[in-house]
Amino acid sequence: MVDAEIVAIGSELLLGGAADTNSLFLADELLKLGIEVRYKTVVGDLPKDIEAVLLHAFERARIVITTGGLGPTEDDLTRKVVARVTGRRLVLHNDALAAITHRLAARGRPVTAEQTTQALIPHRAHILQNPVGIAPGFFLMRDDRGVMCLPGVPSEMRRMFSEGGAGCLEPLAGGALHGSLLRRRLRTFGLTESEVDSRLRDLYRAEPNVVLGLQAGEEGVDVSITVRARHVDSAQSTMKRVERAVRDRMGHALYAVGSQTMEGVLALQLKARRLTVTVAESCTGGLVSQRLTSIPGSSSYFKRGYVVYSNKSKVEMLKISGTLLNEKGAVSREVVTAMAEAVRARGNTDLGVAVTGIAGPSGGTKEKPVGLVFWAVADKKQTLWLSQIFGGDREGIRRRASQAVLDMLRRYLSGKPVVE
Ligand code: ATP
Ligand code: MG
Repeated sequence: MVDAEIVAIGSELLLGGAADTNSLFLADELLKLGIEVRYKTVVGDLPKDIEAVLLHAFERARIVITTGGLGPTEDDLTRKVVARVTGRRLVLHNDALAAITHRLAARGRPVTAEQTTQALIPHRAHILQNPVGIAPGFFLMRDDRGVMCLPGVPSEMRRMFSEGGAGCLEPLAGGALHGSLLRRRLRTFGLTESEVDSRLRDLYRAEPNVVLGLQAGEEGVDVSITVRARHVDSAQSTMKRVERAVRDRMGHALYAVGSQTMEGVLALQLKARRLTVTVAESCTGGLVSQRLTSIPGSSSYFKRGYVVYSNKSKVEMLKISGTLLNEKGAVSREVVTAMAEAVRARGNTDLGVAVTGIAGPSGGTKEKPVGLVFWAVADKKQTLWLSQIFGGDREGIRRRASQAVLDMLRRYLSGKPVVE
């Protein structure tokens, strides 16, 4: 398999304020082309540092992709350094200049001397058009190595790569590609990383061409399956077999595949069953409603959301009994079930969903520590509830809680046991 190194250029990426996200997109796209990213490097805007990094990259990767430093300002040095390390002159590229002039004119801006520098491209490089920005990118070969320079701005980088860049790499990938690589992500919620790990343990070494990876986060544990094979057909049949084995072991915890999200899966379920929902939220402050409504067409199932943060609002808006709140506390099974039943009635929907908890960092007690969250789903006949103590900081607790609420709804809708 052809290997690549991504070089993210920009001092801002080293100062703590900004992260290199461009390489996440690129690694994903490269994998689709059968190109494996072996190294990622982040380097500041110093020419000698960029030069050293590029020379090193040429030693260890067939394809080098840079992002950043293509703009018109002093610190945009990528063109110069790449020309130097590839032994080419920088020449004013007429078509590139025309394109720059055209785009600036469309924004009512003149072509300054600085802007013109963006049309200086290493001799005989292939120009990559920038459909959403000004500076073009380019691709060239240095002996048997390919180097591609893309802008730093993520939206420009993505469009340029997809609309021109990927095409330049295909011949390189195809020529040396002796095999096929497939990847699939199975998403789970409700199991810890070590639980997932122990369920999959016997699969790790079962097939030499299969790599299983786990990634734990606020949305649960994702299992990635990577399959290498000589031919697409055998890669596909191996993938099918391994996916089935992983699915068997994950059971009801498996909620989505690939880039699907919990709210996306729920949207499909709610639409298919023509059910409607009202939500009452305390500690998540609207996050559950926000996620449910992030899906286009959500008005067919989401009717309203109440953010009832204070006890007073729970009494006033949902008619939760003040005595109940005093006796059991806002974070309790009794209150969360009352909230779910109350919003179902208020919203006149099939389902009522509620969540209440202590997101912290203060407000915890011995009996009710920070992270304790109760949530519930009510239908016409019954009210189901769950509770858990979530780890993490305030934001983490809120996100985990929102995912747990949505997951309970998913399990309820698919007729799977809410509690395993
Ligand atoms: P410009 O014409 O805007 O100067 P450029 O190609 O020179 O484009 P940079 O100046 O390096 O790009 O970066 C522009 C902005 O793009 C940065 O301020 C940063 O916010 C973002 N950016 C740069 N590199 C990355 C990266 N690797 N990942 C995510 N964002 C990035
Ligand atoms: Mg710049």
